[in-house]
This record gives sequence, C-alpha cells and structure tokens, in this order.
Amino acid sequence: MAELDRRGRRRHEAGVFLLGDDVGGSRVVRDAIFYDQLDPKAYDTGICVLHGAAFAQLWNVCRKRGLTVVADAHTHGGDARQSGSDRKNPMVARPGHIAVIVPDFARGPVLPERLGLYRYLGDHRWTEHGGRRWRRFLSLREVRR
Ligand SMILES: [Zn+2]
Repeated sequence: MAELDRRGRRRHEAGVFLLGDDVGGSRVVRDAIFYDQLDPKAYDTGICVLHGAAFAQLWNVCRKRGLTVVADAHTHGGDARQSGSDRKNPMVARPGHIAVIVPDFARGPVLPERLGLYRYLGDHRWTEHGGRRWRRFLSLREVRR
C-alpha cells in the first residue's frame, strides 16, 4: 500500500500485479511487481495503461520466479468502485482473476473494508466481494515462503 501511495504521488493511479500460487484452493501472495516496473510510462495518462510488451515481461517474471498472477491491484483517487473501463478491460482476462481497487490513491491508513474486491467471471462480468464482508474473501497475514 505504501508503495502504491508513493508511486502514484497522490496525483495519479498506480498499480501492481500480485504474484503467488495456489495453496489448497487459496491464492497466496508472495511477491509483487508494480506496473511502472514493467513500463515506466504506465501512469502517464493518469490512469493505469499497460501494453503488450509489459505483459510479455510480466509472464517472463512469473516464469523466472515460478509464480503466477494471483490478482492485480490499482488505486483510484476517490472510492474503490470499478470504472466502466476497469470492467471492460480486465488486466488478466481469465475467469477467476481478482482485481483489487484501493481508494484515495492508497493514502494510509487503508481500511480493508474500503477496498474494492472483484472477481472476474468472463464476458466483462464481475462479482463484488468488498465492504463489510471482506474477511470472507481476503485474509491479511504474513506467510513464509
Ligand atoms: Zn480503475
């Protein structure tokens, strides 16, 4: 969260791919790569935009680290609701993919109940899991490798 805040400078969106693996049906985040690490121009328009070359690099990183993309997260200036573009353009267009939206450009403290938690169903449809019931969907604790 602190890195998203720093990289967005509280002026524009910032984003990150959360890398990890599946442990007994739960996705565990073990590593992260920020959009601007894949493309220094990713935030130039104010919203997160990544092109094909950035994804080629992402898949390379995953292969090298032996991890997969378990979710992505990006910031919004206001609340954590998906935009029309977020709905239509999932970062990973695979059913089951999870997209997290962090409100207030990730300026702390970021309360988990204010996160937007979305799971992709395919065909530009998503289900929402955020709000007061966030604990059913997300567990925040440190896991050793
Ligand atoms: Zn967005």
